[in-house]
Amino acid sequence: MNRKYRRIIIAGNYKMNMLPGEIRAYAESMKTLVPRARWCETVICAPFVDLTAGLKYLKEARISVGAQNMSEYPRGAYTGEVSGEMLRDLGVKYVIIGHSERRQYFNETDLTVNEKVRAALDLGLHPIVCVGESEKQRELGLTEAHINYQVRAALSGVNEEQIRKVVIAYEPIWAIGTGNTATAEQAGEVNRYIRSIIRSIYGARLARATSILYGGSMNEKNAFELLAQPDIDGGLIGGASLVPEKFAKIIMAANQE
Ligand code: PEP
Repeated sequence: MNRKYRRIIIAGNYKMNMLPGEIRAYAESMKTLVPRARWCETVICAPFVDLTAGLKYLKEARISVGAQNMSEYPRGAYTGEVSGEMLRDLGVKYVIIGHSERRQYFNETDLTVNEKVRAALDLGLHPIVCVGESEKQRELGLTEAHINYQVRAALSGVNEEQIRKVVIAYEPIWAIGTGNTATAEQAGEVNRYIRSIIRSIYGARLARATSILYGGSMNEKNAFELLAQPDIDGGLIGGASLVPEKFAKIIMAANQE
């Protein structure tokens, strides 16, 4: 982490968990577990139907609310989709774009990811853009080539003003929901590489100010070590974000002196 130059963000991803009626109790627990003084911004990315309850109750626990996806289209005949403007109208601040589960199960391509990133930015939303290699790609030594392509594709057409709102999350696919966390060194190395890509596109000042998170089986035990890496500016947390006691400890790790 480098608090001097960038926002530290601890973002939970509920995925398809947590009923709207369960959010209030979750927020109450978080309120008592997490002290007021904090160095990081805490975010919960919730299913669409949870957003209203999230905005009402999580705010009281000083937690911002994000969505897990949005349409690349502004409005129209796209049954079942939710637009960025709808999210903004509700008061949502963040939106995860290009999570590996969406790429894997819902056919999201680098092209749609880029369209969604630009649509989010045009509306003033903060996209949390997910990139990460598969186990096979890592074994074949293709991690950097893959990350380089994904980051550049996602940010194509994003200008210098807009990049300030972008958060990148490095999420190796082999580490998501598997319990196989990348070592702090592995994660730190890829995050440093991502910053070098941002630097080559936008220059040193904007690269230094970009928050780059790590995600993939981050939990209350390994968070401290991961966050001690200079280029890991927070976490995107699935499983552990569902349990207030665990999530609170990760937030505390981001508040280490
Ligand atoms: C995620 O959903 O982005 C994630 C990293 O999940 P988990 O923490 O469960 O691996």
